[in-house]
Amino acid sequence: MKELLQKYDRPGPRYTSYPTAPEWTTDVGEANFWAAIERGNHKKTPLSLYVHLPFCEEHCTFCGCSTVITKKRAVTIPYLAHLFKEIDLIADQVDTSRPVIQLHWGGGTPTYLTTNEIQSLMQKIQSRFQFSDDAEVSVEVDPRVTTLEQLTAMRKLGVNRISMGVQDFNPKVQEAVNRIQPESQVRQMIEWCRNLGFQSINTDLIYGLPYQTVESFADTVSKLIAMQPDRVALFNFAFVPWMKRQQQSMDPNTLPTPADKLQIFCDAIQSFTDADYLFIGMDHFAKATDEMSQALQNRSLARNFQGYTTRMDKADMISFGITAISDIDGDYFQNKKVLTRYYSDLDSGHLAIERGKICSSDDLLRRDLIMDLFCNTHIHKSRIEKAHQIQFDNYFTNELHDLQSFIDDGLVEVTQDAITVTKRGRLLIRNIGMVFDKYLRSKASSPQRFSRTI
Ligand code: SF4
Repeated sequence: MKELLQKYDRPGPRYTSYPTAPEWTTDVGEANFWAAIERGNHKKTPLSLYVHLPFCEEHCTFCGCSTVITKKRAVTIPYLAHLFKEIDLIADQVDTSRPVIQLHWGGGTPTYLTTNEIQSLMQKIQSRFQFSDDAEVSVEVDPRVTTLEQLTAMRKLGVNRISMGVQDFNPKVQEAVNRIQPESQVRQMIEWCRNLGFQSINTDLIYGLPYQTVESFADTVSKLIAMQPDRVALFNFAFVPWMKRQQQSMDPNTLPTPADKLQIFCDAIQSFTDADYLFIGMDHFAKATDEMSQALQNRSLARNFQGYTTRMDKADMISFGITAISDIDGDYFQNKKVLTRYYSDLDSGHLAIERGKICSSDDLLRRDLIMDLFCNTHIHKSRIEKAHQIQFDNYFTNELHDLQSFIDDGLVEVTQDAITVTKRGRLLIRNIGMVFDKYLRSKASSPQRFSRTI
């Protein structure tokens, strides 16, 4: 395993999109967005909505999200006013017979909003779009600041799934990442969610944080298993201090070594699977009864900017708020990062798109393949051939050649009709995906922009 680490531990994308964000350009704008909406209207593609609520009171040093750190609570007033403008602008152009099958609020901290603000935002969205009866409606909550009153209001408004950041229970790790969150707070939050009848409770853990050890993280995992969340996302910490300023305060010497990280990850897989969680994709776990496990079985699991998700493969994703990314009929659009710019575009009656990617047929083919690999760890060549009108072995001659070293290392098996990632290979699935990334292959994209794969 040590040799594998040396060979494969290098910067690489997580493939929550393909082409990855460094390939997106600023010449993609409003006209492209409306054209994509129009195509989706024509096809009557269902909708998945995302709302970005960026505010947090304090900055966790590991955080890779797009946030606005402030204790000035009044910031939510203009933000919500502009979100409403954006919702109206877009909803006016969307065929309202397209059902919303998924709505997610992420952040930042969505529960930075007051209960009244939560109510008015949810009612605004519900008044402009038509939700299917079984729509998945989820909100990210921070156990440190979320109240029972907020949870109760969300449940009444139709929220049926909750996701919360746990990260690590160890006090020394929590102190190092500026996120003090006692175990009792998480236990309380899970209990409230259960009593209120939320269908699925997801928790996030992060490995690779300062002062984590194989033993300390095993303790965190066992404490979390005792709380029985329905899903667990086990993220590999992306140490990118050149991109995230708050990470510059971290001493790299306090981070676990790549070998320890791999051990932490392997041990966690063992613990969760021993506790009857299904290992999903590259870093998620779900109880067999959870929708995510069922999505894995019926191959409807998808990958988006939040990680793994159900249903999204059949939907156009329309997103609202700063930095929010829409994925509509194959094309990507990302909103502006700076609040004032986002506000001024909407005030002048325009969308606040900063950049995006209009995808070619080759992009869509490679996206399909990479997402299949990340979701199902298995590619049927004949499915790809049929969906994209290609002859697989001819189209990917060079890629198949480059897969040979993964085959030799026991990470991938290739047969006449399939490419299968082995159990061992799942730990290095980002590296396998990189083989099919045209932009990395052409060296047009520098892998240095990404976090390390292990
Ligand atoms: S991890 Fe969550 S709570 Fe912490 S800064 Fe990032 S978005 Fe805010």
